[in-house]
Amino acid sequence: MRPSIFNVRVPLPDGEVFLMNTFTDAQLRVSADVVVLLDAIAEGRVGTDALDPESRAAVDTLAEHGFLVPSREAERADLERRFDQFRDDTSQLRVTVLTTLQCNFACGYCVQGDHAGANAGGRRMSLETAARVAGWVEEQMVRLRPRSFVLTFFGGEPLLNLPATYALAERLWAACTARGVRLLVNVITNGLLLTPEVVDRLVPLGLNGIKVTLDGDREAHDRARPLRGGQGTFDRILNNLSRIAGRCAITIGGNVEADAIDRYPALLALLREQPFAGSVTKVSFKPVIRNTPGAARQAPVIPLAGLRAGGPATTAAAPAGGSPCDACHFVDDHLDDLREETRRHGFPTPDGLHQGPCEIHRQHAYTIGPDGTLYACPGFAGESALAVGHVEADRAVAHEATARRFARLTPWDRCGDCEFIPVCAGGCVVASHHERGDMTAPTCHKRAFDSALVSLAYETAGVQGDSHP
Ligand code: SF4
Ligand code: SF4
Repeated sequence: MRPSIFNVRVPLPDGEVFLMNTFTDAQLRVSADVVVLLDAIAEGRVGTDALDPESRAAVDTLAEHGFLVPSREAERADLERRFDQFRDDTSQLRVTVLTTLQCNFACGYCVQGDHAGANAGGRRMSLETAARVAGWVEEQMVRLRPRSFVLTFFGGEPLLNLPATYALAERLWAACTARGVRLLVNVITNGLLLTPEVVDRLVPLGLNGIKVTLDGDREAHDRARPLRGGQGTFDRILNNLSRIAGRCAITIGGNVEADAIDRYPALLALLREQPFAGSVTKVSFKPVIRNTPGAARQAPVIPLAGLRAGGPATTAAAPAGGSPCDACHFVDDHLDDLREETRRHGFPTPDGLHQGPCEIHRQHAYTIGPDGTLYACPGFAGESALAVGHVEADRAVAHEATARRFARLTPWDRCGDCEFIPVCAGGCVVASHHERGDMTAPTCHKRAFDSALVSLAYETAGVQGDSHP
């Protein structure tokens, strides 16, 4: 037996240690002796076959929770098996539909949107294409027989194309109902055209939640996410959210520019006062992505805190700049304070640790552009050279080679024995593509994981106030 490469630890102020295994998600609060025992086993100073009863019991507990494994090779094989299972999983079909690439905002960090000339052309899904998309989804349901189907509407701004949105939602609701498949509909919108009527129309069709982006307080948001004429959008979005309060779950996302971080506390305080605060189920922030290429014999005490199971979170992107998707929360470590601040204001937020592998590594997760083109994930939407298929079979053939290229993406192969591989899988492929010009390379936010781990350990251990990092 040897210690798992996926063990991580955080010393706690009371002398105990928070131990976590990122593969099994086991989380224990142990005495320092247990850590000494683990280190002794790692260094070969103690064998696991000749221990006193108390150390034996500790070792058995550690092995049961995956902190001790038979060998490095066996552990790596288990990891690959898990990633294979994740890739091939058919229990959930996930489809993000871009009903239009047009947008009524002109955000400075986004190449989509209402910049001069950007909304020209037919980048809007027709009802005929929506019918083909629905037919293709139905074929996937017949083929995969999923238990659930997650349908996410995104853009551009999806509410600029309500006819296609309603047509798809209605037909796929009927398809899911006929097959006993659970349907979860999400809408990622800038919020400008959000109305109670839209929500009321979608709730009976499986609406799971609405995600809206706010980039800081009024001043910061209006600067980052204006209309083309420069008019602010913050007040109208808040008003629209107030009008749908209590009708459905609301998620607030934010794209963080380094110079706007100090705006977030004011935003959180303001959100807390809003009539829709009770409907907010998640608040999360992401950075903007830019295009730039002896003791072993002592009796160990293991107060097992056997805790929660983790899992990937869930949506979507401006090809360069905006929020690529909900799958990652690779905030930089200096954004960690925002997570704490968010919690302090009473809003749930991702812990920054339980993330991957993300949707791009899931074979049966698709992003569909307005013309029916398939992409590997929302972050590649609109990049026709990187399309992986099409809802029309005869047009899909041309993309088969690219599809194979995406199916082989394993950026974690270049991560060595990083302890965060199970929850990171090498980071965001879109970020690697845009920032490094190499989608096979990892995009590493290890410092952010380290930082999130400390937060999780202190939160789990109930450490508060001045002791908190
Ligand atoms: S590659 Fe990046 S944008 Fe695409 S699903 Fe993964 S985390 Fe999201
Ligand atoms: S990208 Fe960095 S944090 Fe993620 S698995 Fe690779 S080395 Fe670890």
